[in-house]
Amino acid sequence: MNKLITDFLKEASDKGITDIKRDLPMSEYTTFKIGGNADLAVFPKSREELTDAVTVAKAIGLPVYLVGKGSNLLVSDEGFRGVIVFTGGLDKITLEGNCVYAEAGVNLTALSRSVAERGLSGHEFACGIPGTVGGAVYMNAGAYGSEMKNVTVSSDYWSSTLGFGTLSGDEQGFGYRESAYMKGDKIILGCKMMLWEGNPEEILATCRELLAKRREKQPLEYPSAGSSFKRYPGRFTGQMIEEAGLKGFSVGDAQVSTKHAGFIVNKGRATCREVIELVGIIKEKIFDKEGVKIECEIRYLSPLGEVTL
Ligand SMILES: Cc1cc2nc3c(=O)[nH]c(=O)nc-3n(C[C@H](O)[C@H](O)[C@H](O)COP(=O)(O)OP(=O)(O)OC[C@H]3O[C@@H](n4cnc5c(N)ncnc54)[C@H](O)[C@@H]3O)c2cc1C
Repeated sequence: MNKLITDFLKEASDKGITDIKRDLPMSEYTTFKIGGNADLAVFPKSREELTDAVTVAKAIGLPVYLVGKGSNLLVSDEGFRGVIVFTGGLDKITLEGNCVYAEAGVNLTALSRSVAERGLSGHEFACGIPGTVGGAVYMNAGAYGSEMKNVTVSSDYWSSTLGFGTLSGDEQGFGYRESAYMKGDKIILGCKMMLWEGNPEEILATCRELLAKRREKQPLEYPSAGSSFKRYPGRFTGQMIEEAGLKGFSVGDAQVSTKHAGFIVNKGRATCREVIELVGIIKEKIFDKEGVKIECEIRYLSPLGEVTL
């Protein structure tokens, strides 16, 4: 066994971290259902376990990558030669008046439902986004006219170089599918959101309506990582792809959805390589036809860390 892996297993267990897996098939931990094995994966149950796991990995020299629900993620067919840290165990929600504190691993749809039931409005937009709070802050996830930026007052982080800290308001650098967390090594631990009072029945009805819209418009019957490309200013990328004649176009089992051209779906046994080839073809066709460069929204994890697609 690779010495770095044995060192990690020993030092992590010395720190009391027990939930560690070896050779974890990332295809089972991403919504795209694509990706080879991660050498190591940790499922911390507390902030302390998370920071200890990252500290140990970095001291040994192993790459670390944070994953919430893996719903915006394309993992290499060769997997990952480091430690995947899953945040799902950090799952507490605290409510105080109109203020909600959610830890990074909280499921977004569950959060939307939970605040709706308590008569708090403002989080309906996130109902149906299949990620975690941490992933949503990182991506500034948004839908149906709102985004995390509109509700997130501040977010707490830990970084191996800076320790614990908080980013408030504009410090969070929210832009279209963008946040300050995309630069540097800060790990989101949780965030404080300010919502407003409303009628629980009406809020829940909005959630149901948005979920129905998703079912109607999105290819939820196939694995995917959501919209593959960012919107080009003033344009819907799905429409540009459709107008380029690529709806239904496939490379192997990776296909431009026939239901919504903004999604690349996995028709069965799609590989990362096929998705990357398809992304390249789409970008090239759009450039040839429209003269614009569209950008991928999906994060691509290579065997040694994240790279741009
Ligand atoms: C069917 C479908 C529909 C979707 N609809 C939408 C939509 O309407 N709007 C939208 O914005 N997105 C949508 N998405 C994409 C995705 O769900 C969101 O981007 C979501 O916020 C990602 O959360 P996650 O926990 O799955 O993050 P992951 O995919 O696990 O990670 C995404 C990125 O965030 C980083 N990250 C995750 N957690 C942390 C943390 N705690 N600290 C630091 N970095 C972290 C990861 O390293 C990675 O770079 C959709 C996806 C699918 C499959």
